[in-house]
Amino acid sequence: MEPECVGICTIEDGVCVGCGRRVYGEESGETMTTQTLPQGMVVLQRGWLSSNSVLLRGAEGWTLVDSGYVTKTEETLALLDAAVGREPIVRLVNTHSHSDHLGGNAAVARRFGCPIWVPEGLADPIGRWDEAALLLSNAGQQAEPFSYSATIAAGDTVPMGEWEWRAVSVPGHDMHALAYFEPSHGVLISGDALWEDGFGILFPSLLGQADAIAAAREALAAIERLPVRWVIPGHGAPFRDVAGALQRAWGRLEAFANDPRRIARNALRACVTFTLLERGRMEEEELRATLAGVELFQRALDWIELTPDEAVRWLGDELERAGAIRRAAGQWQAMLPA
Ligand SMILES: [Zn+2]
Ligand SMILES: [Zn+2]
Repeated sequence: MEPECVGICTIEDGVCVGCGRRVYGEESGETMTTQTLPQGMVVLQRGWLSSNSVLLRGAEGWTLVDSGYVTKTEETLALLDAAVGREPIVRLVNTHSHSDHLGGNAAVARRFGCPIWVPEGLADPIGRWDEAALLLSNAGQQAEPFSYSATIAAGDTVPMGEWEWRAVSVPGHDMHALAYFEPSHGVLISGDALWEDGFGILFPSLLGQADAIAAAREALAAIERLPVRWVIPGHGAPFRDVAGALQRAWGRLEAFANDPRRIARNALRACVTFTLLERGRMEEEELRATLAGVELFQRALDWIELTPDEAVRWLGDELERAGAIRRAAGQWQAMLPA
């Protein structure tokens, strides 16, 4: 019988450490040279609250890309300890500013003594610890403040593991986001700019900061120009059908362009699920107050012209149908692995 996969799936050399299932690689009939992530590229695939963390091994030690959500820090450190053993983590690099990607930065730097490199556009908000610019206070999310040692600009070459990665500007979901591309193996660490099925919420449009649809078009076009053979996304398993993923992403983007209210509905579904997962369960009354009191939710409700009351009814039905929550006695309980 197939073992049940635990909520947190750790994939190492193509095998899930949690359940022993081969996710990709030799036994799945694929040839090692062209069909697996190169040795020394390890993806720690996480639950809903945390982004994936990517570990890249080199002679000097490991580079870590992204550090998960702040409330999952203990789990992040345990996964890192298990993955690197006694070898050092020599730097931590971020793809973008969101709480699920940098929430564990401070704790990882404390534990491993590693410097943190961030995309250039984040230097100012991180330096000032501007919780609104970092999409924390205005989204009802949190992260522990940290200091960075270096910044990365689009076009820079970044040493991570034994490879040289090129930083690629992928705006849209986050206007300052970078993806990292390794040309010899064709591996792209895409953050939330491209997933196997879609991409991250177009926050800058929703918050009235920038035209995230136009920006995301640039990001997808930039990815399309690269000879990508593997994508390690910010969420979900690594995948190889890059053309298929791009096609789905373009389709979603055009659907957003045709009806921007879909951006707001997408944001509400995902961010309410996130808030609920962080807290485990919430009274419906508390949820209504959160929808009315957090800027991101207020703006999304304005876009689709729903009151908090109407939104609670709509979201309750949608999320319950999707299996993300269960409602009982005026309480919402999160059902997804956090
Ligand atoms: Zn993310
Ligand atoms: Zn993100």
